[in-house]
Amino acid sequence: MNKEQVVNQLQQIKDSLPLGVHLVAVSKFRPAEFIRAAYDAGQRIFGESQEKELSLKVEELPNDIQWHFIGHLQTNKVKYIARYISLIESVDSLKLLKEINKQAIKNNRVIDVLLELHVAQEETKSGLTPDDCLALLEEGEWKLLSNVRICGLMTMASYCPDEQQIASEFARAHQLFNKIKEKYFSDKEYFKYRSWGMSGDYKIAIEHGANLVRIGTTIFGEREY
Ligand SMILES: *Cc1c(COP(=O)(O)O)cnc(C)c1O
Repeated sequence: MNKEQVVNQLQQIKDSLPLGVHLVAVSKFRPAEFIRAAYDAGQRIFGESQEKELSLKVEELPNDIQWHFIGHLQTNKVKYIARYISLIESVDSLKLLKEINKQAIKNNRVIDVLLELHVAQEETKSGLTPDDCLALLEEGEWKLLSNVRICGLMTMASYCPDEQQIASEFARAHQLFNKIKEKYFSDKEYFKYRSWGMSGDYKIAIEHGANLVRIGTTIFGEREY
């Protein structure tokens, strides 16, 4: 891919998204010049999965980019991203949530997060099982955390060709979102994000309620690790 192709792909995807569905351009392992090209074409939300890589890019790129953290986040790394991160999509424990709150207080801000849900068949995927997610919310300590806001759920479907399987996983996430919204956030407008769908499955995700899609490969080409 060259920069022109990136801009073309970005535009095609943006044109194809229904109103109200937001795009996270997943830029992990991509050079800053590609991100800059997408930025110049109007894209503002970018997703990264590694703290070191993200920190370097933040230095180099415009400061009105909204960075989403989408990878597994170790508690000892939170302090490095707390100053600027726009949304941490991958919160998978109360311990991590508490650390984010602590670092948010230190930076005198509120940090928005999503709870990462594990609905896929694969054991390898991270995230809270639906039961663990409900248990965390029911336990209630999160309500005392003044400087984090839980703004919705994130999930990944199984990496498989079975579209019905993928659809049923997204549908499950959507159901759980509705249940949690009603039970804990019915009066909270900010609890609104359903982050599911990547390059291979974002159309199915949108059919099942996604309003935040995280797309890398379709925009930037295959990643070179
Ligand atoms: C890498 C990644 C994506 C983007 O995947 P593509 O298949 O390149 O679109 C989305 N979400 C998460 C959590 C990722 O790690």
